[in-house]
Amino acid sequence: MRKNIVAGNWKMNKNLQEGIALAKELNEALTADKPNCDVVICTPFIHLASVTPIVDKSIIGVGAENCADKVSGAYTGEVSAEMVASTGAEYVILGHSERRAYYHETEAILEEKVKLALANNLTPIFCIGEVLEEREANKQNEVVESQLSSVFSLSSEDFSKIVLAYEPVWAIGTGKTATADQAQEIHAFIRSLIVKKYGNEVADNTSILYGGSCKPSNAKELFANPDVDGGLIGGAALKVADFKGIIDAFK
Ligand code: PEP
Repeated sequence: MRKNIVAGNWKMNKNLQEGIALAKELNEALTADKPNCDVVICTPFIHLASVTPIVDKSIIGVGAENCADKVSGAYTGEVSAEMVASTGAEYVILGHSERRAYYHETEAILEEKVKLALANNLTPIFCIGEVLEEREANKQNEVVESQLSSVFSLSSEDFSKIVLAYEPVWAIGTGKTATADQAQEIHAFIRSLIVKKYGNEVADNTSILYGGSCKPSNAKELFANPDVDGGLIGGAALKVADFKGIIDAFK
C-alpha cells in the first residue's frame, strides 16, 4: 500500500545555523513522539550535508528543493542530482510552481531532472497544479494532465519510485486552501490518469500529496480523503510546533 508522507519545503528560508537548529528540534520532537507517517524535510542545498547526519534517518528523510537538468560540467551555480545524493539526501522536490514560474522550468527540463534524480537513487517529489485563472476557467484537469507528461514518459518501474504533489498555485503561501472536496476530486482524477497509463497496482501505490497553505487546523480534514496521502508543506514547515501539528494529523 502507498505511504502517507508529510514533507516540508523550507524554500529560501533559514541560514545554515538556523536550519541546523530547526532540524535538531524537529528530530528531538519526533524521536520523543514517533510519527505515524513518513516525514521528509527539503532544505536549501547548502544545508543538506549538515542536516543529514543530525536527523534519525529512520524517522526523517532529507531532500533538496531542486537539482540540475545536466549530469555535470560547465553549468556555473548548478547542483547536480549526484551531488545532492552524495550529501546523504534521499529526496528532491522537482517542478515546484515557483521553479516553473520564476525559473521557466518546462516539462522537457523537468523530464531530464526527474530522470537524473532517479538515476542517482533520489525520490522525486514531483509537483503539479494550476494557477488561479486556470481554476476559474475550470481547466485544472487539463493542466495537471499536461504537467504529468514529464513523468508519464517513465517506465512503470521508475514511475513507481516517484511521489506526486498536487499544489494549486492559488493556494501556495496565500492562506487560501483547497477545500477537502476540491482536493479529493482532483487527486482522484490524477490517480485515474495513473490507472490509465500504468494500471491499478501502480496507481494504488502512488502517494499523492496535497500542498497549499496546509496547517495543523486543516490537515486532518484534507488527509482524511481517500486519495490524499499527506502534504507538501511550505510556511508551516518552518516551525516545529506547526509542522508536528500537521504530522500528527495521521494520529
Ligand atoms: C509549497 O511551497 O510547496 C507550499 C505548499 O507552501 P505553503 O504551505 O506555504 O502554501
